[in-house]
Amino acid sequence: MYLDKDIIKEGNPILREKAKEVKIPLNNHDLLCLEQLFQYLIISENDELAKQYNIRPGVGIAAPQVGESLRMFAMSCVDFLDEKQTKYAYAVINPKIVEASTEMTYLPDGEGCLSVVRDTIEYVVPRHYQIKFKAYVYDFFTKKTKFITKTLKGYPAIVFQHEYDHLDGILYVDKMLHKDETSAIPLYTVKNDE
Ligand code: ZN
Repeated sequence: MYLDKDIIKEGNPILREKAKEVKIPLNNHDLLCLEQLFQYLIISENDELAKQYNIRPGVGIAAPQVGESLRMFAMSCVDFLDEKQTKYAYAVINPKIVEASTEMTYLPDGEGCLSVVRDTIEYVVPRHYQIKFKAYVYDFFTKKTKFITKTLKGYPAIVFQHEYDHLDGILYVDKMLHKDETSAIPLYTVKNDE
């Protein structure tokens, strides 16, 4: 399993590389990496286990953050449930964002990253409010990889964009601004059209 010591921190050039496409079906090495990324998030969601293993809580983690320059990441937004109580948890491989809304938003308290240890509390990161992506996702229960197209909005869309950026060597600190420098609307005040 990955521990905090395995997480590559800002300043390491691996985080700045454009990650390579993953071969489908996944080989054992890549699958183990993806599995451990997902496991990190699951453990981090449990306060007791997170304390026991001394890991920072996270809602997303990308392969380059553990030194694997591969286009895959895990996300798990358990604290965010939408009106349909969907748990946005995915093990994502070779994602492509194919559509993005012009409407921009940001998390009012800013973003954080397992690879960034400095304090960026005064800054926010403008993100597309809604995105549509195509990707392979791995299901750990059925042990199957399937290709999906999905639309995300609000919080899970922000998490997806943050992780997606990691695959292109981009960190949120590259995009952060002061609130008065952006015309984006803070999340939770964006009108929900459903
Ligand atoms: Zn990150």
